[in-house]
Amino acid sequence: MNLVLFGPPGAGKGTQAKLLMEHRSLPQLSTGDMLRRAITEGTELGRNAKAIMDRGDLVSDDIVIGIVAERLNQPDCASGAVFDGFPRTIAQAEALDRLLQSLGKKIDLAIELKVNDEVLIERSANRVKEMIAAGQNPRADDTPETLRNRLDVYYRNTAPLIAYYRNQGKLKTVHGMAPIPEVTKSIAALLDGAS
Ligand code: AMP
Repeated sequence: MNLVLFGPPGAGKGTQAKLLMEHRSLPQLSTGDMLRRAITEGTELGRNAKAIMDRGDLVSDDIVIGIVAERLNQPDCASGAVFDGFPRTIAQAEALDRLLQSLGKKIDLAIELKVNDEVLIERSANRVKEMIAAGQNPRADDTPETLRNRLDVYYRNTAPLIAYYRNQGKLKTVHGMAPIPEVTKSIAALLDGAS
């Protein structure tokens, strides 16, 4: 099963992808995590991506398509994966379809986590305050200002995926503001229905 999880930043994609990895043994392919790892490791990719990510803009399609293509060749992706934060543009979605097709696979389901933007911004502001109070460093792109830019980028570049996957008959929508266990249950029901 190859599953795309998408939705605005802070919608809970990462949380749900991690739960799917635990419960369904589907590897989580998070391009955000891969890029952050490259930054920590100080690779050329990381050095090029850092300023773009700190602003909340998108890293180029070619770069993220390249890292996903490499990751998909690893053996743990043989029976499927959860794509978390990828694709984020139509060009990425088309490239992913081509990549999977070349491996004799396809996207089975694309789940959109629907959320309320104002609540997301409020939650994010609270999370940043709590982290600072606890002596931790919040992510540079988690400040309320950058989050607003990330939301704009989402609606401009990523929301067109709704129509893309609807046209392929693969789109399902889940209410992402529900408590985490309820969102997990809704996703599980969709996966069971699809397999
Ligand atoms: P995320 O952890 O998925 O919220 O991603 C954090 C940041 O990494 C994004 O705001 C982008 O700057 C970059 N990024 C992650 N995935 C992609 C992608 N598929 N395409 C372009 N940029 C990405």
